[in-house]
This record gives sequence, structure tokens and C-alpha cells, in this order.
Amino acid sequence: MDAYDIVVIGGGSGSQVATAATDRGLEAAVIERGPLGGACITRGCVPSKALIHRADVVDEIRGAAKTGIDAEVNDVDYGEITSAIRETVYGKADRQERSLREREHVTLYRGEGRFVDDRTVAVDLEEEATDRGGDKTNGGGETVELRGESVVVAVGSRPTVPPIDGIEDADYLTSDDALFLEERPDSLVIVGGGYIGAELGYFFGAMGTDVSLVGRSDRLVPREDHEVSDAVTESLERYCDVYTGHEATRVSGGDGGVGVEVESADNEAIELEGERLLIATGRRPNTDTLSLEETGIETDDAGHLEVDDRLETGVDGVWALGDVVGTQPYKHAADYEAEIVSANLLEESEVGDVGGDAERTVDYDAMPHAIFTKPQVASVGRTSGELEDNEREYESTTVSFDAAPLGMILETDGFVKVLAAPDGEILGCHIVGPQASTLIQEVVVAMERGSGTVDDVAGSVHVHPALSEAVYAAFDDLSSRPFSTAPDWRDVAD
Ligand SMILES: Cc1cc2nc3c(=O)[nH]c(=O)nc-3n(C[C@H](O)[C@H](O)[C@H](O)COP(=O)(O)OP(=O)(O)OC[C@H]3O[C@@H](n4cnc5c(N)ncnc54)[C@H](O)[C@@H]3O)c2cc1C
Repeated sequence: MDAYDIVVIGGGSGSQVATAATDRGLEAAVIERGPLGGACITRGCVPSKALIHRADVVDEIRGAAKTGIDAEVNDVDYGEITSAIRETVYGKADRQERSLREREHVTLYRGEGRFVDDRTVAVDLEEEATDRGGDKTNGGGETVELRGESVVVAVGSRPTVPPIDGIEDADYLTSDDALFLEERPDSLVIVGGGYIGAELGYFFGAMGTDVSLVGRSDRLVPREDHEVSDAVTESLERYCDVYTGHEATRVSGGDGGVGVEVESADNEAIELEGERLLIATGRRPNTDTLSLEETGIETDDAGHLEVDDRLETGVDGVWALGDVVGTQPYKHAADYEAEIVSANLLEESEVGDVGGDAERTVDYDAMPHAIFTKPQVASVGRTSGELEDNEREYESTTVSFDAAPLGMILETDGFVKVLAAPDGEILGCHIVGPQASTLIQEVVVAMERGSGTVDDVAGSVHVHPALSEAVYAAFDDLSSRPFSTAPDWRDVAD
């Protein structure tokens, strides 16, 4: 049995704990069964945003006439787009693997890991040694056992498929395969109104596919603030036929396509047809393949690992991070959690020692997220619904993007919504509009590193005439600072 200071199962964000450990002179092992870098690089964030960028370009050209510019999209080489994206992201995963292999004090085991006991992990190595390198950690089909003084579980998640009647016999896509199609389907039924369904609905719709987007709730992206989910639902209607408040009840094969019966809350059924079907109804943690029954590690009903606020499981020395914890299923959250686990394992340790004594705890209050539809969405903190459920007193303002001159120039429907306590503490901010994912950042910094009040944002100088002036205008609206100079160009539309 090979012994390591730290054994990491899952080479997404988890591998960052291993590299941090080697900087301390510790010996680490990373077990990974797929491309290095995890879902984000090859099946998630990056390829989906690379596709969406193309949709944005097409959409801009199609809408150019309103700016007085006569332009048209003549041709889109769809297969060329997806193969170029595939090459980029898999190339990045290969480079990441090479750099891990070249690093001292870390060994990469290519295969599937599962627990034998609390701190021992068996790895079923890949059958075939690949061109990734021919050492014993990379092929042969044998099983090796690794003993870790600490073990980090970072095995991520995978798409779930709901038990819709007929689904077992249907030919359907999930986000794992929808990103790299060689041909764009002429029509597509998407079941799932969360952020992945909404982003892919926007992408395929803007590229010209006839999309039917089905969501169970009465609004798309229902976890967002209600003003945001209303805006996303309305904007997605420009790209897709949106069926909110509908549940898919039956799937059947058709002539060269698929039929999906969807039912409303009052039992009215509609039959939707598409060349392809994409199921985007959520993800489940990959904990069911880990033989957790051999350990004292516990999961909740959805399969997420139970951890304390230092991200340690109920078993001493076994830590978890990322989608497998599931509190914030985003790449930047998994990276943040990797930092917390690294600090807790390594901060107090002498070089060459696994520590585990530090007390870094997670704090998700200023954890942002974004949705890359058109317009984009970005949020941090609480929604107004959450504040109301908790009977928290708050003030709120919603200022449209055209308060900023650049917002007016872009003719966008976006807005910035700010929620604050009566003493000015920022409780939440929700942005819908171009570059929302970037604009949210100053609010995150104010919440995380500033005094956390509206004056942190309203009292900072903003570049003129940048879109950040829309954020400035919204925070200024809730600030009591005198001598405001925030712009207001909303009268142009009057
Ligand atoms: C379509 C899509 C779009 C997304 N867009 C965004 C976005 O824009 N922004 C954002 O922040 N997040 C986005 N996400 C979410 C993001 O990808 C995840 O939150 C993030 O990848 C989680 O990181 P992780 O390290 O926990 O898991 P992963 O990145 O999934 O890494 C886990 C790794 O463990 C490996 N593994 C699993 N089981 C085993 C085992 N038993 N043995 C060995 N290896 C194993 C897997 O192969 C995988 O490589 C998106 C996800 C999808 C699907």
C-alpha cells in the first residue's frame, strides 16, 4: 500500500489542495478518472461560455439594424465551432495534467477511487495506459490502495435524469454531450428551467434552433430574486418557446425526433416535438460510487457530504469540497472551498507535517454567481424573498441600466437591484444586463473586504461613462451621502 500525507479524490478543484500541500513539502496523491480540471474545463463553465460567446456575436449582428448598421449572418460553421472549443478545453486539461505530473511530491493516479476504510482509498486503474504517460499510476487495469493521513473528497457531480415515463428508451442529451454536437439541431426540447437549461436555451435559440424550454416553476431560474427570474423568463421568450409551470410527463420517440408530453398544474397536457431532447433538470453528487458504507462519512438525503463549517466530514482527517458538498455548486465556490481546506490542513503545519489545527470556516454571505443568458444575470447575498421569509427588515431599490449613459447607449433592459438593512448594510445585489457577471464584483469586494455598507459602493468614484455607473446609481439611491453626483439618463427615454 502506498502512503501519502494527503490523498485527493477528484482532480477538479480538489487538485489545488494537493498542489498547495506539495508547496509545504508534503507528499500528495490525486486520483482522477477523467480529464484533469474537472467538469468546469471540459463539460461545464468554459465550453458553455465559449458557445454562448458565439451566440452573443450572432445575436449582436442580427440586432445591428437598430444601431443603423446593415449586417447579416451569412453562415455558421457549427461543427467547426464545437470542434475548436473541444480542442481548446481538452488541450487545457492535458496541459493541466502535464503540469501536475511534472510537479514534485505529487502522484497522479488515473482511475476510479473508492474507500476501503476511513483513510484508505482503492484505485481501479485505467485498463489502458494512455499517451498521458506510461507509469504504473496510469494504466494496467490493476487496483492499488493508497493510505492518506488526510483524505480530500472532491468528486463533483453529474446530471440527474428524472423518472419521466419513457425516458429509459429515449435518446436524450445532457449538458455532458450537448456542448459538443457536430451539427446544430433544427429543433430542441429542453426539460429544466434552472440556469443550465436557461443558458443552453439562450445559446441554441440565438443560433437558430427552434427551442421549447420547459420549467416546472412559474418562472425560469426560480432560485433568483423574483425580479430577476421574471426578467430572465421574459428575455428568454425572445429565443425560445417557454413553458413555465409545466412538468414533462412522457417521452416518446418520433419520426427522426422526440415527442415530450408536458402537463401544467391544472393538468392540461401539450405535446412538444423536437429533433433532440436535452434533460437539464439538475445534478447529483458523485458520492454513490465511493463505497462510503466502508467509512463513517455521512451524506444528506440528496447524497451531499455532511461537513462542518471547516469542511471536515464527521470522520477526522477526511475533508470535502465543491459540488460534493453542494452548498454553492459553482466553480469559484469549489476553489474558495479548496482554499479553506488547504488552510485548515496546512496553515498551522510545520513544513512536512499535516496540520489540521487551523480554524478557517466557510462564509458564503458574499458568494456571487452569474447566469450567462442574454442579458446576463449576477447576484450576491440574499433575495427579497429570502429576507421576507426571515422577516428581516430591509430597503430596496431597482434602478434601470439606462440611468448610466452607457446603459442608455446600449439600449438594454437591464437593472440593478440593491437590498440593504436600514443601517445601510448590503444584504443583496442582483444585476440583470450586459456584463452583469463583471459588474457584481465591486459589490462582492464591498461585502467581503469593505465595511459592507451601501456607502462603500456609493462613495467610490466610478469610471465615466462605464456601465458600472448603473451600479453606482443604484447604490447611491439607497445611500444618505450628501452631494450625490450619480448619473441619471433615464429621462432620455421619456
Ligand atoms: C453546463 C455547465 C455549466 C456550468 N457553468 C458554470 C459557470 O458558468 N460558472 C460556475 O462557477 N460554475 C459553472 N458550472 C458548475 C461547475 O462546473 C462546478 O460547480 C465545478 O466544476 C465543481 O467543481 P468540483 O471540483 O467540485 O467538481 P468537478 O469539477 O466535477 O471535479 C470532480 C472530478 O472528480 C472526478 N471523479 C468523480 N468521481 C471520481 C472517482 N470516484 N475517482 C476519481 N475521480 C473521480 C471527475 O472526473 C471530475 O474530474 C457549470 C456546470 C455545468 C454542467
